[in-house]
Amino acid sequence: MAIIIKELVTKYNFVFKKKWGQNFLIDNNILKKIVAHANVDKDTIVIEIGTGAGTLTRALIPYCKQVISYEIDLGLKPYLEKEMGSNKNLEIIFDDFLNRDLQKDIAQYSYKKMAVVANLPYYITTPIITKIVNEDLPLEDIVIMIQKEVCERLLAKPNTKAYNSLSIFIDYYFEARKLFTVKRHSFWPPPTVDSVVIKLKRRKEKKVSVTNEDAFFKFVREAFKYKRKTLKNNLKNYPLEQIEAVLQRWGHDLMIRAEGLSIEQLAAIYNKISQEKP
Ligand code: SAH
Repeated sequence: MAIIIKELVTKYNFVFKKKWGQNFLIDNNILKKIVAHANVDKDTIVIEIGTGAGTLTRALIPYCKQVISYEIDLGLKPYLEKEMGSNKNLEIIFDDFLNRDLQKDIAQYSYKKMAVVANLPYYITTPIITKIVNEDLPLEDIVIMIQKEVCERLLAKPNTKAYNSLSIFIDYYFEARKLFTVKRHSFWPPPTVDSVVIKLKRRKEKKVSVTNEDAFFKFVREAFKYKRKTLKNNLKNYPLEQIEAVLQRWGHDLMIRAEGLSIEQLAAIYNKISQEKP
């Protein structure tokens, strides 16, 4: 595996770019483990964000129908086209994933299942997950490697330090679970943070129902805006009296912080105030 990196650097003069979160996975066992958890088969189309040197891409290709892999760094193009260009079921799109129209990109393919499998560029983890959700793809499984600290926030429960608006966003759409941790020496170059692989399964039925999803998440972000502040301070622009009336159901008042509230409670508050608005 390290041979791939050596070739990339010596034959193709590739220079690693920190700004794009380039830490390439070089551990065969980890690659196999990720693919095994991804639940892909010959009817599955897989979306990968960040081709890198194509190590995960290569591991996926034999097991799925089609891989669409996005890579922003044109410096990888000569290598990837030469070494991987002959794969019939691989399309590499050299562009910023965040700017793509995914529906258009997949339109030409037929498939029964769709999955996202990727070792993400960590600096844009949240925008990538948000985009995947908002594009409303028929996704079954998302298996992604992310930074350990971000994983803690994604999976956090109420009344913990890591619990925030992102935890609520994920919980709203997915059943999320941590699969395993990955050591720094499994990458080249080794990153300065720890990594974990997680699986997100889209909920068939939503945990809570809200009148308007975008407005609900905006409300949640406001509620968590300053973590040390109470709802009274963070939600100044919302009808505080009505919020207090809902909080009283659970014996709380406006001095509570958002981190003390579950997704069900936040949804109940939001639904109440959204109904009463003109
Ligand atoms: N999947 C590879 C690479 C992981 S490193 C592996 O496991 O080895 C993350 C990769 O994402 C890098 O190759 C980086 O260039 C790419 N990348 C960073 N930002 C991107 C963006 N906005 N769109 C597409 N690719 C991006």
